[in-house]
Amino acid sequence: MADSPVELPGRLAILPFRNKVLLPGAIVRIRCTNPSSVKLVEQELWQKEEKGLIGVLPVRDLEAGAVGSLLSPGVGSDSGEGSSKAGVSPVETSKQDTKNGKEPIHWHSKGVAARALHLSRGVEKPSGRVTYIVVLEGLCRFSVQELSTRGSYHVARVSRLDMTKTELEQAEQDPDLIALSRQFKATAMELISVLEQKQKTVSRTKVLLDTVPVYRLADIFVASFEISFEEQLSMLDSVDLKVRLSKATELVDRHLQSILVAEKITQKVEGQLSKSQKEFLLRQQMRAIKEELGDNDDDEDDVVALERKMQNAGMPANIWKHAQRELRRLRKMQPQQPGYSSSRAYLELLADLPWQKVSEERELDLRAAKESLDWDHYGLTKVKQRIIEYLAVRKLKPDARGPVLCFVGPPGVGKTSLASSIAKALNRKFIRISLGGVKDEADIRGHRRTYIGSMPGRLIDGLKRVSVSNPVMLLDEIDKTGSDVRGDPASALLEVLDPEQNKTFNDHYLNVPFDLSKVIFVATANRMQPIPPPLLDRMEVIELPGYTPEEKLKIAMKHLIPRVLEQHGLSSAYLQIPEAMVKLIIERYTREAGVRNLERNLAALARAAAVKVAEQANTLRLGKEIQPITTTLLDSRLADGGEVEMEVIPMGHDISNTYENPSPMIVDEAMLEKVLGPPRFDDREAADRVASPGVSVGLVWTSFGGEVQFVEATAMVGKGDLHLTGQLGDVIKESAQLALTWVWIFLSLICIDEILLLYLF
Ligand code: ADP
Repeated sequence: MADSPVELPGRLAILPFRNKVLLPGAIVRIRCTNPSSVKLVEQELWQKEEKGLIGVLPVRDLEAGAVGSLLSPGVGSDSGEGSSKAGVSPVETSKQDTKNGKEPIHWHSKGVAARALHLSRGVEKPSGRVTYIVVLEGLCRFSVQELSTRGSYHVARVSRLDMTKTELEQAEQDPDLIALSRQFKATAMELISVLEQKQKTVSRTKVLLDTVPVYRLADIFVASFEISFEEQLSMLDSVDLKVRLSKATELVDRHLQSILVAEKITQKVEGQLSKSQKEFLLRQQMRAIKEELGDNDDDEDDVVALERKMQNAGMPANIWKHAQRELRRLRKMQPQQPGYSSSRAYLELLADLPWQKVSEERELDLRAAKESLDWDHYGLTKVKQRIIEYLAVRKLKPDARGPVLCFVGPPGVGKTSLASSIAKALNRKFIRISLGGVKDEADIRGHRRTYIGSMPGRLIDGLKRVSVSNPVMLLDEIDKTGSDVRGDPASALLEVLDPEQNKTFNDHYLNVPFDLSKVIFVATANRMQPIPPPLLDRMEVIELPGYTPEEKLKIAMKHLIPRVLEQHGLSSAYLQIPEAMVKLIIERYTREAGVRNLERNLAALARAAAVKVAEQANTLRLGKEIQPITTTLLDSRLADGGEVEMEVIPMGHDISNTYENPSPMIVDEAMLEKVLGPPRFDDREAADRVASPGVSVGLVWTSFGGEVQFVEATAMVGKGDLHLTGQLGDVIKESAQLALTWVWIFLSLICIDEILLLYLF
């Protein structure tokens, strides 16, 4: 690399470079295939003994369209590889264009004189086209005075731009230049030290730093960067040393910074890559081990399926993030690891919960709702009216925070079925959550996941089962919750029923808030008194006191019998239960406020009839020649007496479709006794009991309705103490004491033998 000023001839053959610049000090390798550049190389370099210099002049595409039409078709077919990174394409003009005197391309006014370091010639087969590969070294800047053509290529009259030796020596004294040089060298040194860590070859560049004058170094450094054409041009135009140095310093610094940033990014990416690669390798190994063990149930696929399920669950963004975190943890675990199954069960729950899913509420038809309520329930006019009002409000204001309806009454009065009718009317799913015997708050709110065997609370579990977020949820037997050391379920229920709070219901197991505000809650209770007042405050109590025997009869005839027959695959063509028999069942076999036992007894009759019908059909099918079964299954079973469990005929299977029935079976007293056993209660009981002296009748009230109780007193010789037996409450004890006092008061008036009646309530 020459650092002494070059002898520049007055005329130079010009090799045009499209959108590229050759800077002094840079070396490029060009492959010339185009006739015009081949001619230039051939005449100016190849054929000459004494190889002279050629000028390399940048040309620019100004307008893409114009350039496309002005440049010769050969343009771009030449390719060059630079020792500096610059890709080089010499540009030739078409003969036609030059003849027409048009400049097809925009020539830059400054160029660089270059000398050929290496030349090689080739002939392409089969076309016989000659090509050259030239290695050129940029030497010094020149400016074009005049451009003309020589044959098929250009020549230019040029003038030198670089300083002479004496000028240079003078300029080097300039303190500004000295400062700039120092700054440039420092930046260049920094770049070299960064590059040194990556490539070993930079030591050669380091040597350059000490030997080559700084103004040439500036060109050499910049030539090795990939910078824009504009920047390359402005570097070429920087004839002034100070300008050149400050520009070069800026470019070197920018290059340095970009290397540093790129390095940082690569390091980060490499870190991640190696981590995931490591994970991949380990997983591959794990799979191989599993295959060896014959244990290839693919947990990985399971996890992928779980993730897909989670994605489709429509979780809110923050919960999705939380779920992903948990999923990542699961991925890192082995299925045999202790926490794996609990973590998995948790994620399954998250995926199964209806975060978004709702059952479409259809336009509420109040008339249809009323009809459906009447169809399912006899009487209860006031209750039905209240339900219709409730539905009407919902129709007008679907998101109204109406009161929570609470049906209070003894068992079997239709509380559950009324709630399910509400769901039907609203076209929502129905779910019953039994709260009977719930003493632990965790039953409502779930256990924290730190406990072994922890589970979500009953509400969240119910929502998972029903898989929509807007069901009608029946909180059954809300009065049966009690509080003890394990917390107070009622306070958790308070939160559930409070429209302000249940938007973000927090289940301990779930550990993320769940919106319960779309759920319609309905509660049932046997008694109002045990319900804690704050809870009662949130609810509107609707009392269902129980039915009179007449009402029960109507319910049985209109609703229970058709339902029971249908459930057992029968119809009135097979079994008829006359009103008188239903009355008997009510009087002798049930003593309840509701109709649950009545329904149970009717079902027992239906089961017995189903067996008989099925047997008859069997007998019919056997044909005449075959001996029919002598003792029917029914008779043998009934002979044992009492209520018998019969085979259950699958529901919905209508025997009437299958078998022909000769005549319907009509329930009579005998059948009642056979199927239901001897009567449990009769009218004579009370009369018989009170017939003997000392027995009185008391009426008691329980959550199951009214009861009759007999109170018996006997007098015996003794000190006059009163002994009470049975688990009596304070009120009854007091009453007994009162009765005895009364006896003492009137002792003188009544004959002692006659003191046998002790009835006071
Ligand atoms: P609860 O929830 O009050 O204990 P259910 O709703 O389970 O009682 O009712 C028991 C059975 O009695 C159900 O089959 C129900 O349809 C029936 N039932 C109760 N009351 C009536 C009624 N008024 N009309 C028709 N069926 C009734």
